[in-house]
Amino acid sequence: MAELRNYMEEVVRRALDRFLKDNPGICDCVKCRMDMAALALNELPPRYVVTDRGQVFAKVSQLECQFEADVLMAIMRAVEKVVDNPRH
Ligand SMILES: [Zn+2]
Repeated sequence: MAELRNYMEEVVRRALDRFLKDNPGICDCVKCRMDMAALALNELPPRYVVTDRGQVFAKVSQLECQFEADVLMAIMRAVEKVVDNPRH
């Protein structure tokens, strides 16, 4: 079954996971994580594609290379905002 997906969402999720793993001092609860992902995604261009289930990951690494610097910058800004003003 075909699905509409935003690959950028997957790229941000993975980059955010790595970032939080590398920075253990930052709260990585579900609330903060989702706030960070939302803030970062609002800064990044969406990349919508129609895909069959399960094919998402093949193209994610391609995008990761293309947008690595932008994604990391957006994540760092998002993390800063959430750390300054956590919702808990
Ligand atoms: Zn938290």
